[in-house]
Amino acid sequence: MPTYEFHTLGCKVNQYESEAMEALLRQHGYREAAGEPADLYVINTCTVTHVSDRKSRQQIRRMKRENPDAVVAVVGCYSQVAPEAVEALDEVDVLMGTKGRAKLPELVEAFQQTGERQVLLTDLDQDRAFDALEISGGLETTRAAIKIQEGCDRYCTYCIIPYARGHIASRPLDDIVREAERLVQNGFKELVLTGIHVASYGKEERDASRRHDLLDVIEAVGRVAGVERIRLSSMEPRWVTPERLERLRAIPAFCPHFHLSLQSGSDRILEKMNRAYTTELYREKVAEIRRVFPEAGLTTDVIVGFPEETEADFRDTMDFCQEIGFSRMHIFPFSPREGTPAALFEGQVDPWVKKERARRLAEVEEALRYGFMDRAVGQVEEVLIEGGEEERREGYTRNYLRVAVPGDVSLVNTVQWVCIVAREGDVLKGEILEATQL
Ligand code: SF4
Repeated sequence: MPTYEFHTLGCKVNQYESEAMEALLRQHGYREAAGEPADLYVINTCTVTHVSDRKSRQQIRRMKRENPDAVVAVVGCYSQVAPEAVEALDEVDVLMGTKGRAKLPELVEAFQQTGERQVLLTDLDQDRAFDALEISGGLETTRAAIKIQEGCDRYCTYCIIPYARGHIASRPLDDIVREAERLVQNGFKELVLTGIHVASYGKEERDASRRHDLLDVIEAVGRVAGVERIRLSSMEPRWVTPERLERLRAIPAFCPHFHLSLQSGSDRILEKMNRAYTTELYREKVAEIRRVFPEAGLTTDVIVGFPEETEADFRDTMDFCQEIGFSRMHIFPFSPREGTPAALFEGQVDPWVKKERARRLAEVEEALRYGFMDRAVGQVEEVLIEGGEEERREGYTRNYLRVAVPGDVSLVNTVQWVCIVAREGDVLKGEILEATQL
């Protein structure tokens, strides 16, 4: 039986697609190499920064160098955006972009029969269909991602993703529900609805009578028997409306954790980023979320050192983040991405200044995160136990706080009511309550 080994870089969508391609290979008689030398190495690449490009190239070269007789297949965003750079690598036997990955087993076989490099690259302006792949297993033991949407038509000036992933394309609602049912049957309690721009779900459908939106997806998955938790990977501020929040509140499985990318707290910089909202609108949306979900976890992404960002702009960002009071922030020093408008903008910020701003904002982030965690001490929270070691298990609350409890492996993949007793660094400590204590 031939064996495979995957190396996946990048986001949840890439991880989902690797999981799906692995399932396909197993259907074609392959098994996972599990640490032995493999017959096939698949590198699912990322191109979100130039560092991801470099890591993709390093992985490709290393796989062939260490396994000269194996087949090396390269797929994903880097090969879609920079095919010449990947084609220049002799180590590559099979080259695919971000569409048509269901053909992976076929292309590998064609290479093995002919010895000729196999290439499948699609024009993303022509091919606007959703690239159907499916999974039955998950990334972890308790949580599984479901890819519901592809592509993005937002064109933020710093982002390469629309060029790598193409135009928005939505997965048929029935497909999504069937996958949710399959995953529940396989024991998963928590499903993460993911995509490149999930708020765009259904937007490409011109016939209003056939159009579904993201809320229809969440409600449909919420009706699947056995689904205990539904999370959204990330959210677009403008998608948030009072009506939608009320409908979310009516879905018992919906977890009140909103990852609402901010990127900057300066309206001047938001405009240069083409983010299509202002801090005033963002503030309003957060207030609406907190009116309906006072306990909500609110996480975000922020870019520091965007071209022409002044000290005053940066202070606006610091002040705004403090005002909003995020429960966790991911901070990225601006990285110019060849092929994006922002890479050519005047006023590129000195790398040292970017680093210093990231350090200063990280201090704000830590204080906010610990503050949010400390407010949970003394509360009783529902925790899905995911894993751990020896007599210590860990899991997440519905609003995405990490909690550790004493207990053995039999607790894994169970939902427990936990009294939060203390914070220990970045983890909360809890005690599982017996039914009589609830
Ligand atoms: S919304 Fe903006 S940042 Fe997000 S994927 Fe689309 S272009 Fe990139």
